[in-house]
Amino acid sequence: MSRPRLFIISGPSGSGKGTLLSDLLQRHPDVFYSISATTRAPREGLEQDGVHYYFLTHEKFEQMISENAFIEYKRYCGNIYGTPRKPVEDALNAGRSVILEIETQGMQDAYAQYPDAVTVFISPPSLELLGQRLRGRKSEAEDVVLRRLRQAEEELTHKGDYQYTVINDDLAEAREELNRIYLAETADL
Ligand code: ADP
Ligand code: 5GP
Repeated sequence: MSRPRLFIISGPSGSGKGTLLSDLLQRHPDVFYSISATTRAPREGLEQDGVHYYFLTHEKFEQMISENAFIEYKRYCGNIYGTPRKPVEDALNAGRSVILEIETQGMQDAYAQYPDAVTVFISPPSLELLGQRLRGRKSEAEDVVLRRLRQAEEELTHKGDYQYTVINDDLAEAREELNRIYLAETADL
C-alpha cells in the first residue's frame, strides 16, 4: 500500500512537464491527473477537450469562479487557467494520489489549502534550450514563444519555493528522478 499525496508540479512552458508526467502516469496508472480548465484555444491536432484541458468560454469560466468551483485560478498570457475542485476532492477521498500541473502562483494558493502537498519544479537546463524546445514543439507562433520565454524568466525565480527541483536535461534521468520523488513521498511511513 502506498500513501496517497497531492503533488503540485510547476515549470515554465516547454520545460518538459507534459513529457515527464505522462511517463509518471504510465508507471502509476492509479494516480489522478487533474485536468485544468482554460479559456485558451486547443493546440490544433494535439489537444482534446476533457483530455488535456476543459476548454471553456470566458463566460463559463467566470460563472464557475463565482460558484467557487476552482481550488485556484490564474490569469496567464491573456487566458485564465484553473483547477476544478470536485474531481480533486473525489480522487483524494478515494485514496488516490493527485497531480496538479499549475503555474507558480497557483501553487501558492493550492498549497495554502493542502499543506501536506508535495511541490516539484521542473526546470529547463537553460533558457536557450527552453527556447529551442518550445520552437521544436511547433505548437505556438513565434510571438507566443517569445512571450512564454519572458514569462519563463520570471517563473524560474520561484524555483526556490518548491520542495524539489528536477532539471530536465537528459530525459531518461529526469524521468527517473521524478519517479524517485514519487516513490519516496508515497511510501508508507
Ligand atoms: P511543457 O509540458 O512543460 O510545456 P513539453 O513536455 O511539451 O513541455 O516539452 C516541450 C518540448 O520539449 C516537447 O517537444 C518535448 O518533446 C521536448 N522535450 C522534453 N523534455 C526534453 C528533453 N529532456 N530533451 C529534449 N527535448 C525534450
Ligand atoms: P499551457 O498554455 O502551456 O498549457 O499552460 C500555460 C501555463 O498554465 C503552464 O505554466 C501551466 O502549468 C499553467 N496551468 C495549467 N493549468 C493550470 C491551472 O489549473 N492553474 C494554474 N494556476 N496554472 C495552470
